[in-house]
Amino acid sequence: MPRGAGLPIRLSFANIPAMSILKVAQMGHPVLRTPARRVDPESIGSPDLQRLVDDMVETLKDYDGIGLAAPQVHVPLRVCLIGVVEEAEEGSPQEVRIVVAINPTVTPLTEETIVGVEGCLSMTDLRGLVPRYRAVRLEALDRGGEPFSLELEGYPAVVAQHETDHLDGVLFVDRMPDLRSLAFSREFVRYGVEYDEVL
Ligand code: ZN
Repeated sequence: MPRGAGLPIRLSFANIPAMSILKVAQMGHPVLRTPARRVDPESIGSPDLQRLVDDMVETLKDYDGIGLAAPQVHVPLRVCLIGVVEEAEEGSPQEVRIVVAINPTVTPLTEETIVGVEGCLSMTDLRGLVPRYRAVRLEALDRGGEPFSLELEGYPAVVAQHETDHLDGVLFVDRMPDLRSLAFSREFVRYGVEYDEVL
């Protein structure tokens, strides 16, 4: 459409949301292996930190992820997002609540572990079987700088352990007791049943 064609197009940066989709670091980038620094609680209200959280949320949604840690977007700070799938009414779509966790700690609430399939936005298309604690307590500061504590069970507990591992430079492959279950997702879906032998 040429200029002056009569459409009410206005170019104004004010209409562009102040958020960005960030590039996700891939395995092999040193930032993924570097322990992240604690966030100074005084800085949580700063525009830089708030912008980082907004951008991480936008990035997580764009990549269809369920969790994201700041080192994955090349920022070595102890900030992560943990998607918690909310119980949905029958017939309605599941809602995912994104929990912002700053300086998080994860404490197991049981010795019991579950083995689940994990993937990672920093290891595009790879899947593997990883044992994790079935239930954990997540303690962190929220984006307002307020402390909170959450008990998580099952999948959200797995996501919390996966994301907080990123803050220590740990990837899910490091937690795999048997690398024979590491596979590309297409093959994992196609032949995954054979991995029963690995467990
Ligand atoms: Zn990951």
